[in-house]
Amino acid sequence: MFVSAIIAAAGSGRRLGAATPKQMLDIGGGSMLSHSVKAFLAHPRISEVIVVLPAGATTLAVAGVDPTRVPAMRVVIGGERRQDSVANAFDHVGASADVVLIHDAARPFVSAGLIDRTIDAAATHGAAIAALQSRDTVKRVERQPGGTVIVDTIPRERVYLAQTPQGFRREVLAAAVAVGRSGVEATDEAMLAERAGYHVHVVDGDPGNVKITTEEDLEAARQRMGGSGGPERSALQRAGTGYDLHRLVEGRPLVLGGVTIPSDRGALGYSDADVVCHAATDAILGAAGLGDIGRHFPDTDPQWKDASSIDLLRQVAQMVTARGYEIGNLDVTVILERPKIEDAIGAIRARVAGALGVDPSRVSIKGKTNEGVDAVGRGEAIAAHAIALLRRRIPGARP
Ligand code: MG
Repeated sequence: MFVSAIIAAAGSGRRLGAATPKQMLDIGGGSMLSHSVKAFLAHPRISEVIVVLPAGATTLAVAGVDPTRVPAMRVVIGGERRQDSVANAFDHVGASADVVLIHDAARPFVSAGLIDRTIDAAATHGAAIAALQSRDTVKRVERQPGGTVIVDTIPRERVYLAQTPQGFRREVLAAAVAVGRSGVEATDEAMLAERAGYHVHVVDGDPGNVKITTEEDLEAARQRMGGSGGPERSALQRAGTGYDLHRLVEGRPLVLGGVTIPSDRGALGYSDADVVCHAATDAILGAAGLGDIGRHFPDTDPQWKDASSIDLLRQVAQMVTARGYEIGNLDVTVILERPKIEDAIGAIRARVAGALGVDPSRVSIKGKTNEGVDAVGRGEAIAAHAIALLRRRIPGARP
């Protein structure tokens, strides 16, 4: 059986984002649209996928799709109304298609099982849609001057809420599209098939196959992606490590995390040689996949000579924040034979947390000696190790 899937993504619904149609918004590791397309491209019974995009949006990045499946995907431009878009797409359906499914790109959680049920019912009955029986009592109302008044209670077992996919044998969809082109307005293809005289069957929808409509839906979808343990999870939390070492010499200040520690010797370097900030900066850049401190602040560039490293750390924190991450926590171990840094740890934590724009509880600073062993142990050098965890920010969530 040759099964075509039309993914309707031509709507300009901008309610959820000022400049972007909602189906293009990211829900973790890709747009709603790309998740919907992937669900169909990955399904073994789907022969081709036709994506209907708004005019002007002719490119479609579908991350994570098996490249051998990409030739099975085509993009067409939609029309003014949903039914116009589906009619345009239907003109591009393969000549050998037996069944055509139509799916709304704003339902990115469609399951393989639901796609299967819809294909089977459409093939058997000619037309079938996924729908959920109402769980609430349903009231028909009338708007009157004094307010909204119930005029009827409809038995809820007879009320089904339409989802997608909606599936049709090719000739049934051809008749439905013809009805639409004759001037009948419809909000879904099932309605046009009904008007064309076909019985449209219902298959059990899936409560998880939600249509993302409101800001709350969008946030819930992002949390679902983050909490699913799926392949997108890695994009939500990222860890990075950093390491730094500087020689200790007389006549230099000892700066750790932007705090100057009383010491007869300090770290030698082009900048202030602050090992806490350097290790932390590399950990954060590493977690974000943005390279290292030398790439962003090269010591061949005079503007970083004697630079305050806490300012560089602040810049890097702003850089990853602008990329949609927040700093989950930072843990730094300083290895230094002398002096002891215990008394300064509170001040260092506060200074580093301030630069990162986080509460000090998210920053840990620990001091160690090297037990007299090697250059650090002999007091000739100071070193630091750091690990940082970044989390993708969920809009609207509390920090
Ligand atoms: Mg350094």
